[in-house]
Amino acid sequence: MRYVSTRGEAPAIGFWDAVLAGLAPDGGLYVPQAWPRFTPQEIAAFAGKPYAEVAAAVIGKFAGDDIGHDELLAMTREAYATFTHPSVTPIKELYPNLFLLELFHGPTLAFKDVAMQILARLYDKALKAQERHLTIVAATSGDTGGAAVEAFRGASNARILILFPEGRISEVQRRFMTTTGEVNVANVAVQGSFDDCQAIVKDMFQDKTLRQAVDLSGVNSINWARIAAQAVYYFTSAVALGAPHRKVSFVVPTGNFGDAFAGYVAGQMGLPIETITVATNSNDIVARAIRTGRYVRGEVQATQSPAMDIQIASNFERLYFEAVGRDAAATARAFKGFGQTGSIDIPAEALDFMRQLFGGDAVDEAQTSAAIRDTLEDTGELIDPHTAVAVRAALRLRAGAGDASTPLIVLSTAHPAKFPEAVLEAAGAEPRLPAAAIGLDRKTETFDRLPADAEAVKNYLRAFAICNQNDAP
Ligand SMILES: *Cc1c(COP(=O)(O)O)cnc(C)c1O
Repeated sequence: MRYVSTRGEAPAIGFWDAVLAGLAPDGGLYVPQAWPRFTPQEIAAFAGKPYAEVAAAVIGKFAGDDIGHDELLAMTREAYATFTHPSVTPIKELYPNLFLLELFHGPTLAFKDVAMQILARLYDKALKAQERHLTIVAATSGDTGGAAVEAFRGASNARILILFPEGRISEVQRRFMTTTGEVNVANVAVQGSFDDCQAIVKDMFQDKTLRQAVDLSGVNSINWARIAAQAVYYFTSAVALGAPHRKVSFVVPTGNFGDAFAGYVAGQMGLPIETITVATNSNDIVARAIRTGRYVRGEVQATQSPAMDIQIASNFERLYFEAVGRDAAATARAFKGFGQTGSIDIPAEALDFMRQLFGGDAVDEAQTSAAIRDTLEDTGELIDPHTAVAVRAALRLRAGAGDASTPLIVLSTAHPAKFPEAVLEAAGAEPRLPAAAIGLDRKTETFDRLPADAEAVKNYLRAFAICNQNDAP
């Protein structure tokens, strides 16, 4: 399987390079040269199979001959053994024919674990084969950092540095990152905002000397292997509800559009999906694009669902590329233009293509709180604010034109205990921490504080890399 850039000016690469790649050198995102497909019989045969087996089948389609089935299966088994639920991503009926797909039973209680656990194992194999030792740097507004640290802790060929905005993430989120006690993990509380952290990371990647000295890498949501790993639960949940003999619909709480795009990927691989509704908070760039045909950058607003507080939905470029018939020149023009003007007018035909599968809905703060409260009253379930955004959109879809005979699956992306303040305020009930997180508050934290200054962080990183080199076996 080869991977091409959405902007068409970078050479095609193989699976292992795609696993380790961030942005393509032309600024585009990698996508498979052609979509691999399952037959309806193959999809039907997923019914009742363990999650790890379906994961190996789906991810295996993207690896082609680059990894043997048994080896990949061993990796997915190990990755998903870290989840505390036997089904890994169970579904639960919330309202009649409306289901929650619980993606938060991993080590850090957020859906990012699903992709990160397998990504770390793929990284390990790729790095050992290439005899590389690299440094992962990531800025986090909360969930990505914890999932990445938990997945890469103790890795022999990778060290990881996380930057988070001091005082602006929840205590549970911080403790997942700072209590590992591993020598290959470093955390920095930056005296600034998440945007400051991101700007520092960008500065580091642009520093060629530093990039080469420590072999810098990212694990953000544009990574292809993460998308492939997220396509898996679209299959397992749909098959549990009667696919491929019956269509299902999804509602996806959306920030960077990685999770929602994974649903598109599952559809291209042969899963019959009726609709995917992209549910955003008040940072509604994607919902607005699908509704109005204009993709326009706005100001980031802080909400109760911080993992979706973004102003650019990076993975939207992949859908755009598909929607313009894989015209890389048109995609490059549109997104280079976006970099300058902050807006794209989606051509009519491309918009029609997007709307065949996708709908969009934006949910404001009051509606999010109401959804947490109403869900508890109606069903006895506590849901987190990200999930609440999607539940609200799902109920609106049902009340409107939505066909109630099609099962509607809402992706539940975080455990409510990760956002106890928002849940308590909305519903008057405090979510209980699951076993995985119990004791977190008694562990010793290790992190350093630095000003929002790229040079200071770079010096810190060099020292960390040297010290970790010496510690390496
Ligand atoms: C990252 C995240 C999202 C958004 O996912 P995207 O792939 O960026 O659209 C939603 N909910 C939670 C809890 C997250 O951590």
